[in-house]
Amino acid sequence: MQIILVSRTKKVPKTLDLADGRLRFRLLGMAAGAVVGCAGIGAVLAMTLASPRDGALTEIRQLRKQVAHQDVELTDMRKDAQREVDALAVKLGQLQAQSTRLNALGERLTQIGKLDDGEFNFDEQPPLGGIEDSSDSSYALPQTLDKSIDELAAQFDRQQAQLSALQSFLLDAKIESSLKPTGMPLDGYISSYFGGRPDPFSGHAARHTGIDIAAPTGTPVEAVAEGMVTYAGVRNGYGNVVEIDHGNGYMTRYAHNSQLEVHPGQRVHIGDVIAKAGSTGRSTGSHLHFEVWYNGRVVNPLAYVKSHR
Ligand SMILES: [Zn+2]
Repeated sequence: MQIILVSRTKKVPKTLDLADGRLRFRLLGMAAGAVVGCAGIGAVLAMTLASPRDGALTEIRQLRKQVAHQDVELTDMRKDAQREVDALAVKLGQLQAQSTRLNALGERLTQIGKLDDGEFNFDEQPPLGGIEDSSDSSYALPQTLDKSIDELAAQFDRQQAQLSALQSFLLDAKIESSLKPTGMPLDGYISSYFGGRPDPFSGHAARHTGIDIAAPTGTPVEAVAEGMVTYAGVRNGYGNVVEIDHGNGYMTRYAHNSQLEVHPGQRVHIGDVIAKAGSTGRSTGSHLHFEVWYNGRVVNPLAYVKSHR
């Protein structure tokens, strides 16, 4: 058998004689090579396209690489976070020390001011957080730090309230002793208290804005604190009334007097006689109606009249 190969470039066709043994062997080799080559390409195609398991394996390899990278990043982040937590723990320790110093200062001030020990409690130790308690040198648990911060914040709140109260006590102690209403404005007994009571005239429930102190007509009425007379005259229902502004938010009112002993603008001291008791205005008998106002609101005068001068 002969195969004639016709080429476009070559004018003369090439004739292959299959009877030639060498040529037959070469062609056989070429054919075998083509078969093996096709099989290889097919196998690669089958592995990459036809098998989804191998594709997944490739993806898993990539994902594992990503995870490993993220793990490194996470470790770095954890280190940063731990550094921040440690810094916070140091700051917390400083604040706790400050709180302790504040306590000592408060205690000293309480002693200087000769204030009632029960009123202030500066010896209470601030809760010390986990720096010493923790087995690790660093704050392992953020909750521990969080709790310590909360406790410290509460401690500071308490201290602030106590210190501001202490401050006002110390600053105002001298002033308050002369400007705060203190003691009974006249000799007598309390016949009616502050608050709800039936109106002595109508019988309807009405709020009593002061206390009544029963005393015979003419009993001297005294100023209960230092201040300035802002009113001395007749007021509807109150009869002859004296009003004293004490300049620190306090105002006192003395009603139903038979006689007034002061005039508006007059400066008075504690114990000064400002009027004589009586039964003018809406009154059923000789008594003093006494009111205490604080920051524009009428308050129960009982605690003031019961305090000692
Ligand atoms: Zn009254």
